[in-house]
Amino acid sequence: MRLCPPFLLLRWLWLCVCPRQWHCSNGNNCRLPLCVKQIWAYLRLMVDSLYYNTLTNSDVVMDSLMEPIFWMVDLLTRRFGAVFVCLVVILTSSILLVVYVVMLPLTFDTYSPAWIACHIIYGHWMIIMIIFHYYKATITTPGYPPTMKNDIPFVSVCKKCIIPKPARTHHCAICNTCILKMDHHCPWLNNCVGHFNQRYFFSFCVSMTLGCVYCSISGRNLYLDAYSAIERFKHMDLDKSGVPVTGMGQLIGILLPVQRTNQTPLTFRDELFHKSIIYMWVLTSMVAVALGGLTIWHAVLISRGETSIERHLNQKETKRMRKSGKVYKNFFNYGRLNNWKVFLGVEKKSHWLTRVLLPSGHVPIGNGLTWDYPFRKDMMPI
Ligand SMILES: [Zn+2]
Ligand SMILES: [Zn+2]
Repeated sequence: MRLCPPFLLLRWLWLCVCPRQWHCSNGNNCRLPLCVKQIWAYLRLMVDSLYYNTLTNSDVVMDSLMEPIFWMVDLLTRRFGAVFVCLVVILTSSILLVVYVVMLPLTFDTYSPAWIACHIIYGHWMIIMIIFHYYKATITTPGYPPTMKNDIPFVSVCKKCIIPKPARTHHCAICNTCILKMDHHCPWLNNCVGHFNQRYFFSFCVSMTLGCVYCSISGRNLYLDAYSAIERFKHMDLDKSGVPVTGMGQLIGILLPVQRTNQTPLTFRDELFHKSIIYMWVLTSMVAVALGGLTIWHAVLISRGETSIERHLNQKETKRMRKSGKVYKNFFNYGRLNNWKVFLGVEKKSHWLTRVLLPSGHVPIGNGLTWDYPFRKDMMPI
């Protein structure tokens, strides 16, 4: 049996906190209530099973210690899934409201007709892509393995569902079922991302990131104007009689006497417009950075022919095989370009337009149960 320092520490603590009079195996000298005895017996069994186990290592101990946190996160994700979806819908709608009510009228006064047409076409293309892919990613089932007897090859048996697991299938603790080609459980979709909806999820991430980057860049000057206007009039309010004069207020008073006397206070409508532009810019910039990073990471995984779960498993397997002088090869990696074609369902050139750049409800290539595509060798010329 292998003993590492954390286990020795655990054992020492166990001996320290375990007085002899608490040993209740004969039932004579124990004065503790039954519920405490049961908890104590459970804890003792847990420590013993971890300590006297040749397969135990630091990963198993860490997993056991983190289990309550995982359980709590799973529970919250399951309970508040619908709340996250509502949040996405409300925040996206609020941004669209600001764009249509505040930004679009300003654009009409500022740009040439050609630029206005470009903005309208690009903006509406993004809106359609975002709404379509979010809706499809949310309502499309990720794919489940068959529960009836079948001849499909499998790699293991799920200990929770008690069914055979085909390759790339994993159990989702939140959905409490096995998912074909599971990537992860997304709380923002309130759905698992798997074989049948991963393309919708990724396209939604890409279009949402591009939409947010577009709003952030095109609204930058408006944001700076709105921010300075709010700041300027905040100081003007402070310069009124009876209120201590700020340094900035004096500076404005000294350097810009004409402007100061001519400026009228912001109306409620102006202030609302300025604040809504600041809100829009801050939110879209934050989402662009955060979601942009996630999208790039998923693009890297797709290029490698991996899911998020497989990334961890493949890393472990690569290390393990390297120790024995072998090289691990990912069987599901068909080459960078082919991985993208399989993922996006591109089977001919026109599909880059109809299936990638435009909303498309086509089903993914393959059934999610077997992965040896018959057309694999013919894919390069496409
Ligand atoms: Zn399962
Ligand atoms: Zn799930």
